[in-house]
Amino acid sequence: MIELVIGDITQEEVDAIVNAANSTLLGGGGVDGAIHRAGGPSILAECRDLGGCPTGEVKATGAGRLSAKHVLHAVGPVWRGGDAGEPEQLASCHTRAIELAASLGDRTVAFPAISTGAYGYPLELAAPVAIRATQDAMRVHPDVELARFVFRDEATLAPYRAALGS
Ligand code: ADP
Repeated sequence: MIELVIGDITQEEVDAIVNAANSTLLGGGGVDGAIHRAGGPSILAECRDLGGCPTGEVKATGAGRLSAKHVLHAVGPVWRGGDAGEPEQLASCHTRAIELAASLGDRTVAFPAISTGAYGYPLELAAPVAIRATQDAMRVHPDVELARFVFRDEATLAPYRAALGS
Protein backbone atom coordinates (compact mmCIF):
# COMPACT_ATOMS: atom_id res chain seq x y z
CA MET A 1 0.00 0.00 0.00
CA ILE A 2 1.16 3.53 -0.78
CA GLU A 3 -0.19 6.47 1.24
CA LEU A 4 0.27 10.19 0.64
CA VAL A 5 0.01 12.52 3.64
CA ILE A 6 0.86 16.08 4.62
CA GLY A 7 3.05 16.43 7.69
CA ASP A 8 6.53 16.40 9.16
CA ILE A 9 8.36 13.19 8.28
CA THR A 10 10.32 13.27 11.55
CA GLN A 11 7.06 12.65 13.43
CA GLU A 12 6.06 9.55 11.47
CA GLU A 13 5.56 6.33 13.42
CA VAL A 14 7.02 3.89 10.94
CA ASP A 15 9.83 1.34 11.01
CA ALA A 16 12.07 3.31 8.65
CA ILE A 17 12.27 6.99 7.71
CA VAL A 18 13.96 7.78 4.41
CA ASN A 19 16.22 10.82 4.48
CA ALA A 20 16.92 13.01 1.43
CA ALA A 21 20.64 13.08 2.18
CA ASN A 22 23.62 14.41 0.28
CA SER A 23 26.55 12.21 -0.74
CA THR A 24 28.69 13.17 2.25
CA LEU A 25 26.00 11.89 4.66
CA LEU A 26 27.27 14.59 7.00
CA GLY A 27 24.10 16.62 7.23
CA GLY A 28 22.40 19.37 5.29
CA GLY A 29 19.25 21.46 5.17
CA GLY A 30 15.67 20.51 4.39
CA VAL A 31 14.56 17.05 5.45
CA ASP A 32 18.13 16.10 6.31
CA GLY A 33 18.48 18.92 8.84
CA ALA A 34 15.06 18.17 10.31
CA ILE A 35 15.88 14.46 10.78
CA HIS A 36 19.21 15.14 12.46
CA ARG A 37 17.67 17.82 14.72
CA ALA A 38 14.78 15.61 15.78
CA GLY A 39 16.77 12.38 15.98
CA GLY A 40 19.76 13.75 17.86
CA PRO A 41 23.53 13.36 17.43
CA SER A 42 23.73 9.56 17.31
CA ILE A 43 22.55 9.52 13.69
CA LEU A 44 25.36 11.81 12.52
CA ALA A 45 27.85 9.83 14.60
CA GLU A 46 26.83 6.66 12.73
CA CYS A 47 26.90 8.50 9.39
CA ARG A 48 30.52 9.51 9.94
CA ASP A 49 31.51 5.83 9.84
CA LEU A 50 29.70 5.16 6.53
CA GLY A 51 32.17 7.04 4.31
CA GLY A 52 29.52 8.83 2.26
CA CYS A 53 27.11 7.36 -0.26
CA PRO A 54 26.92 7.54 -4.08
CA THR A 55 23.99 9.20 -5.82
CA GLY A 56 21.12 6.76 -6.25
CA GLU A 57 22.26 4.61 -3.33
CA VAL A 58 20.91 4.27 0.21
CA LYS A 59 22.63 3.51 3.53
CA ALA A 60 21.01 2.76 6.90
CA THR A 61 21.64 4.03 10.42
CA GLY A 62 19.73 3.82 13.66
CA ALA A 63 17.12 6.51 14.24
CA GLY A 64 18.26 8.05 17.54
CA ARG A 65 15.33 9.70 19.32
CA LEU A 66 12.94 9.21 16.40
CA SER A 67 10.26 6.60 16.90
CA ALA A 68 11.48 4.73 13.80
CA LYS A 69 14.01 1.90 14.01
CA HIS A 70 16.14 3.07 11.11
CA VAL A 71 16.91 6.09 8.99
CA LEU A 72 17.58 5.14 5.37
CA HIS A 73 19.83 7.84 3.92
CA ALA A 74 19.03 8.11 0.21
CA VAL A 75 21.13 10.35 -2.03
CA GLY A 76 18.92 11.77 -4.76
CA PRO A 77 20.24 13.35 -7.95
CA VAL A 78 20.75 17.08 -8.39
CA TRP A 79 18.55 18.13 -11.34
CA ARG A 80 20.72 18.91 -14.38
CA GLY A 81 18.01 19.01 -17.03
CA GLY A 82 17.03 15.35 -17.06
CA ASP A 83 19.57 13.84 -19.45
CA ALA A 84 22.25 13.13 -16.87
CA GLY A 85 20.72 9.94 -15.45
CA GLU A 86 18.48 11.76 -12.96
CA PRO A 87 15.36 9.57 -13.49
CA GLU A 88 17.34 6.35 -13.06
CA GLN A 89 19.08 7.70 -9.97
CA LEU A 90 15.82 8.91 -8.41
CA ALA A 91 14.15 5.56 -9.14
CA SER A 92 17.15 3.78 -7.64
CA CYS A 93 16.76 5.71 -4.37
CA HIS A 94 13.26 4.28 -3.99
CA THR A 95 14.15 0.77 -5.16
CA ARG A 96 17.19 0.54 -2.89
CA ALA A 97 15.28 2.00 0.10
CA ILE A 98 12.59 -0.67 -0.19
CA GLU A 99 15.23 -3.38 -0.64
CA LEU A 100 17.14 -2.14 2.40
CA ALA A 101 13.96 -1.92 4.47
CA ALA A 102 13.11 -5.50 3.53
CA SER A 103 16.60 -6.71 4.48
CA LEU A 104 16.32 -4.95 7.87
CA GLY A 105 12.85 -6.36 8.56
CA ASP A 106 11.23 -2.93 8.34
CA ARG A 107 7.63 -3.25 7.17
CA THR A 108 6.59 0.41 7.08
CA VAL A 109 8.61 3.16 5.41
CA ALA A 110 8.13 6.93 5.16
CA PHE A 111 9.55 8.80 2.15
CA PRO A 112 10.02 12.54 1.62
CA ALA A 113 9.84 14.06 -1.88
CA ILE A 114 13.49 13.20 -2.62
CA SER A 115 15.40 15.68 -4.82
CA THR A 116 12.48 18.11 -5.16
CA GLY A 117 13.78 20.69 -2.69
CA ALA A 118 17.32 22.03 -2.80
CA TYR A 119 18.20 19.54 -5.57
CA GLY A 120 15.68 21.15 -7.93
CA TYR A 121 14.06 18.08 -9.53
CA PRO A 122 10.74 19.28 -11.02
CA LEU A 123 7.91 17.87 -8.91
CA GLU A 124 5.77 16.82 -11.88
CA LEU A 125 8.68 14.77 -13.22
CA ALA A 126 9.87 13.37 -9.88
CA ALA A 127 6.44 12.16 -8.74
CA PRO A 128 5.81 9.46 -11.38
CA VAL A 129 9.39 8.18 -11.11
CA ALA A 130 9.16 7.92 -7.32
CA ILE A 131 5.73 6.28 -7.27
CA ARG A 132 6.48 3.80 -10.06
CA ALA A 133 9.82 2.67 -8.59
CA THR A 134 8.29 2.27 -5.13
CA GLN A 135 5.35 0.23 -6.45
CA ASP A 136 7.67 -2.02 -8.44
CA ALA A 137 10.01 -2.58 -5.50
CA MET A 138 7.11 -3.36 -3.13
CA ARG A 139 5.88 -6.01 -5.55
CA VAL A 140 9.29 -7.68 -5.28
CA HIS A 141 9.39 -7.19 -1.47
CA PRO A 142 5.82 -7.72 -0.22
CA ASP A 143 7.06 -7.82 3.39
CA VAL A 144 7.30 -4.05 3.11
CA GLU A 145 3.59 -3.43 3.42
CA LEU A 146 3.38 0.36 3.63
CA ALA A 147 5.20 3.22 1.93
CA ARG A 148 3.93 6.56 3.18
CA PHE A 149 5.02 9.65 1.29
CA VAL A 150 5.06 12.69 3.57
CA PHE A 151 4.84 16.21 2.12
CA ARG A 152 5.00 19.66 3.60
CA ASP A 153 1.98 20.94 1.67
CA GLU A 154 -0.80 20.07 -0.74
CA ALA A 155 1.02 21.61 -3.72
CA THR A 156 3.83 19.10 -3.27
CA LEU A 157 1.47 16.19 -2.69
CA ALA A 158 -0.76 16.81 -5.74
CA PRO A 159 1.61 15.54 -8.47
CA TYR A 160 2.23 12.36 -6.45
CA ARG A 161 -1.53 11.81 -6.17
CA ALA A 162 -1.81 12.22 -9.94
CA ALA A 163 1.02 9.73 -10.44
CA LEU A 164 -0.59 7.23 -8.05
CA GLY A 165 -3.88 7.51 -9.90
CA SER A 166 -2.44 6.96 -13.33
P1 ADP B 1 16.72 17.45 -1.73
O1 ADP B 1 18.07 18.05 -1.36
O2 ADP B 1 16.80 15.96 -2.01
O3 ADP B 1 16.01 18.22 -2.79
P2 ADP B 1 15.22 18.71 0.46
O4 ADP B 1 15.32 18.30 1.87
O5 ADP B 1 15.77 20.03 0.08
O6 ADP B 1 15.88 17.51 -0.38
O7 ADP B 1 13.68 18.68 0.00
C1 ADP B 1 12.96 17.52 -0.29
C2 ADP B 1 11.49 17.76 0.01
O8 ADP B 1 11.26 17.58 1.40
C3 ADP B 1 10.97 19.15 -0.32
O9 ADP B 1 9.69 19.00 -0.94
C4 ADP B 1 10.81 19.80 1.06
O10 ADP B 1 9.76 20.75 1.08
C5 ADP B 1 10.43 18.61 1.90
N1 ADP B 1 10.63 18.73 3.38
C6 ADP B 1 11.43 19.57 4.07
N2 ADP B 1 11.35 19.31 5.40
C7 ADP B 1 10.47 18.29 5.55
C8 ADP B 1 9.93 17.56 6.67
N3 ADP B 1 10.30 17.84 7.93
N4 ADP B 1 9.04 16.55 6.43
C9 ADP B 1 8.66 16.25 5.16
N5 ADP B 1 9.12 16.89 4.07
C10 ADP B 1 10.01 17.90 4.26
